[in-house]
Amino acid sequence: MTPKAAVARFQALLRIPTISYPDESLIDWAEFDRFIATLAELYPQVHARLDRDIVAGHSLVFRWPGRSDTEPAVLMAHYDVVPATDFGWKHPPFAAEISGRGADEVIWGRGTLDNKGSVASMLEAVESQLTAGLVPRQDIYLVFTHNEESAGNAAPAVVDLLESRGVRPALVLDEGGAVVEGVFPGVDSPVAVVGVTEKGQADLRLVVEEQGGHASTPPKTTATVRLAKAILRLNEHPFPARFSDTAIEMFRTLGDHATGRIGWAFRHIGLTRGVLLRVMANSGNELNAMVRTTQAVTVLTAGQAPNALAERAEANVNIRIAVGMSIEQVVAHVQRAIGDEQVHVELVHGTPAPPTSLLSGIGWEVLRSTVEATYPGTIVTPYVQNGATDSRHFTRISRGVYRFSPFEMSKDERDTLHAKNERMHVATFLRGIEFYKALVAAL
Ligand SMILES: [Zn+2]
Repeated sequence: MTPKAAVARFQALLRIPTISYPDESLIDWAEFDRFIATLAELYPQVHARLDRDIVAGHSLVFRWPGRSDTEPAVLMAHYDVVPATDFGWKHPPFAAEISGRGADEVIWGRGTLDNKGSVASMLEAVESQLTAGLVPRQDIYLVFTHNEESAGNAAPAVVDLLESRGVRPALVLDEGGAVVEGVFPGVDSPVAVVGVTEKGQADLRLVVEEQGGHASTPPKTTATVRLAKAILRLNEHPFPARFSDTAIEMFRTLGDHATGRIGWAFRHIGLTRGVLLRVMANSGNELNAMVRTTQAVTVLTAGQAPNALAERAEANVNIRIAVGMSIEQVVAHVQRAIGDEQVHVELVHGTPAPPTSLLSGIGWEVLRSTVEATYPGTIVTPYVQNGATDSRHFTRISRGVYRFSPFEMSKDERDTLHAKNERMHVATFLRGIEFYKALVAAL
């Protein structure tokens, strides 16, 4: 495997627009078929020597037989991407163009970070280890799902399949945290944040219904005004900030490496909890989201015509639920914050946070030591991932489900997730391959 050829294969995958839409009738399944066929061409050893199942139409489950099947591992990623138009992109989203030279060489495209970078680096690693004659100690499953960004029904189907075969993974590794720098105050070293659980999520609908009528003689409070006031009140009442057990563990880990007063505060979290919570809540959106359930009004609908009062005004509130909080508590908080019985709060759907994975055992130990070996000088810490992943379904069959993408991601790069100009450094991708090569050799 030359780096150049590996990058060219990655580019080929990025050029196939496997776009997910919540409305599945919009999906171009021919592109998904093309993606699956392209994988077979690009990674012949994987396809010749591993068993493959196709699940839920377009998701792939490969089994690489090891010397034992007692503590298998699942390495997973999704290959669908969110939509992108050319607008605002410096390089078109599905052209996989490369800019810069040397350390500044960057590959541009939708899916570089989320999540084809993982698909490609994993396949490169396995292809190369197969060629080198490696037989893993344990069975390794490679799982590539096709609708993580939309319906997400492929992951539970994969879990059903594995469960029916009695597979109880010691390690499940999916997308998630990354190697980051400058996120935690007082910590100068790079930090590999590994999601040991993720937040739950819910959508609530706020509904106001009124008589309606002609816009020339409006009442003092229309449905739209009532809804707007409710939204403002909700915004003024964020969910309370609190540390999960995982967050406390994270601060203890970081505290051993953090300098000065902040390091002392991390190491003595029992005493400094209140202050740290305030610091976190005021240190940017990512840290704030780590310490509380968040709420965002995402969709507003009301009105049929410019000259008629709206009979119905609706807002969708997307909620990301902190570990330990129930759906009932979420709904109760929203109702209390709004404090207006004429604003109906309806639960559209909701799931609380999945169980937290172990910080011990073979899965965790192998993952941690591989990260430390691939990224020398990096602190490995557990955290609660803010976004949802397919891996939450695997908590049904494993206590070792971790969310970590083995890539260095700067703040600028993380901001391109689901946004324009998504990109990855070529060196980052190549190091991701080294990570997976070391991981499969250690499993
Ligand atoms: Zn993703």
